[in-house]
Amino acid sequence: MRLFEDCDDEETPDMDDGIGLAEAMLGLDGFRVLEVTETAAEVIIDVETAVDIEGCTSCGTRAEAQDRMTVEIRDLACFGRPARLVWRKRRWRCVDVDCDARTWTEASVEVSSRSVLTIRAGVEACRQVGMNARPVAGLARELGVCWWTVMEAVIEHGTALVDDPARVGQVTKLGVDETSLLKANPSHATIYATGLVDLDARIIIDMVEGNAAADLREWLAEQDPAWLRAISTVATDLAESFRAGLSPHLAHATRVADPFHVVRVANRCVDQVRRRVQNETLGHRGRKDDPLYRIRKLLLAGSERLDERGSDRMLLGLRIGDPHDENLGAWLAKESVRDVYLTDDPDEAALLLDKTIAACADDVVEEIRTLGHTLASWRSEILAHHATGASNGPTEGLNLLVKKVKRCGHGFKRFEHYRLRVLLHAGGVTWPTRPCAPRIRTRSPHSNA
Ligand SMILES: [Zn+2]
Repeated sequence: MRLFEDCDDEETPDMDDGIGLAEAMLGLDGFRVLEVTETAAEVIIDVETAVDIEGCTSCGTRAEAQDRMTVEIRDLACFGRPARLVWRKRRWRCVDVDCDARTWTEASVEVSSRSVLTIRAGVEACRQVGMNARPVAGLARELGVCWWTVMEAVIEHGTALVDDPARVGQVTKLGVDETSLLKANPSHATIYATGLVDLDARIIIDMVEGNAAADLREWLAEQDPAWLRAISTVATDLAESFRAGLSPHLAHATRVADPFHVVRVANRCVDQVRRRVQNETLGHRGRKDDPLYRIRKLLLAGSERLDERGSDRMLLGLRIGDPHDENLGAWLAKESVRDVYLTDDPDEAALLLDKTIAACADDVVEEIRTLGHTLASWRSEILAHHATGASNGPTEGLNLLVKKVKRCGHGFKRFEHYRLRVLLHAGGVTWPTRPCAPRIRTRSPHSNA
């Protein structure tokens, strides 16, 4: 059956035979399809270049075809199966006896001699792994190559996107956030990474291995001094290492303690007191029927989120399990820390914070005194939130993206791979645009009704 009866468009390949159709579907410029065969596992396409006449690269004399060699490459998967291109590569010979060129094999811009993937398959693999956070292993299976081939394509095509100077603009509000890269195991402690975030553009601008002051300082030392000077605000968690690492390069910027992390420090104090009192009164770690264990989540919830039943349960649990009101004290301290964020007024916030610090300092419970000490040490950073409005809040969505990358990577062994994939996914990379096909609409199940 002829599919194209009157096909008079000169540009259209000759599609009235199978080879013409195959060539149109392959869509690889400069290649001719010789044969298409298929197995249950893959589609095999024999190709050659459309070049019939070639001049010598050295002297320009018309070259003579010598022989062919076969190169096998993987291309984009074809209708759900890996595709294998079998390229019958020509070897040319210069006929001029005085020429140095002798023989050479042809090349194509679609194929790199370094990879078994066509360029377009490598670019697509990079997009799938980077933009869509798909696992490298899954893509390797889909294309019919090994894990490293895909990872190398991600590195080859993704590095330029991440290094693009247009990716990161001038940052005025910088967020510094710690993430764990690898959980501790018998051979190493937890490995951390530090994420640097443009809080206005909501992108991760870079990832640094480690969470020590020196790690952050080293990264800052590599940045353009003018770029650093324009950063006005830096939001961090309550980590001494970050505070120390910001000087000297960002000593001019206003440091802000991220509210979420300030409240978390107070929550941790509640947890510590609960665990200790639990142990002292019952002699064991929390079990599901223990009064304090049962209210552990209620203790951490904001008081405004507790309904009457919730607060009754919490008070009952405290009455039974907290004989010296130590937990109650920690809970009150935590609530007064939260109160600092109920107001937008910097003076009022300072008043509330100072009251909290003073109350904590006088407390008989050691954990509460430690909390007061931490709050006092971060006083100006905590109050800077009210003056600048800055917080690491915008990074929460980014942390979800980072988690997605981590989950799909099943634990990274190489920091460089982790950094590349996080930045490709959440670093504001500009992906090359490609034409969008019109959508074919779903047939409505109600259309016949
Ligand atoms: Zn020559």
